Amino acid sequence: MLIIGPPGSGKGTQAERLSDRLGVAAISTGDIFRANVQGRTPLGVRAKKYMDSGDFVPDSVTNEMVRDRLSAPNVDDGFLLDGYPRTTAQVDYLDNILATREQKLDFVLTLTADDEELISRLLGRAEKANRSDDKEAVIRHRLHLYHEQTEAVVARYSERGILRQVDGIGAIHEVTDRALCAIDSGATVSSLIPR
Ligand code: AMP
Repeated sequence: MLIIGPPGSGKGTQAERLSDRLGVAAISTGDIFRANVQGRTPLGVRAKKYMDSGDFVPDSVTNEMVRDRLSAPNVDDGFLLDGYPRTTAQVDYLDNILATREQKLDFVLTLTADDEELISRLLGRAEKANRSDDKEAVIRHRLHLYHEQTEAVVARYSERGILRQVDGIGAIHEVTDRALCAIDSGATVSSLIPR
């Protein structure tokens, strides 16, 4: 499955919680990029300038990284991708990877929240987490890119009938419960791992 949401919607937090409950690996492209930036790898060096300015890392770099990650052994029984795809070209690329692997997406979960709420959450996080992309101008740019490019991704999955939209405002555990309900009502996940 995929989890898609604007910056600040809590998708990373929910992806980890859902991956625990569903027993599948969570793969966050943002986390992979940040680990590479921290480790000063060639990939990190290429990605850093885009991340710092709130831009998308180019599709050519991101797509290849995702293809690599999805060839790791722990994703054969399913996975939860957090933060990918963000552009319609990435949707096409992911379709291609999945077709080669003879896998298909069960659901795409999208978290919603309004822009002003997101901006105030992100400014709060900026004080705590020291992320270089949590400055106000950068935050606004990242939100703009979400509306401009990633909403089209959401629309593509909506056309396919696999989109589950969940209100991202509320306590962390409430949002997780809503997400699990939305997934369960889709009735394609055979079992949820009990708490
Ligand atoms: P995130 O933690 O998901 O907000 O991602 C942090 C940053 O990593 C983004 O602002 C982008 O610069 C980069 N990034 C993560 N995922 C992607 C993606 N699918 N395509 C392009 N850039 C991405």
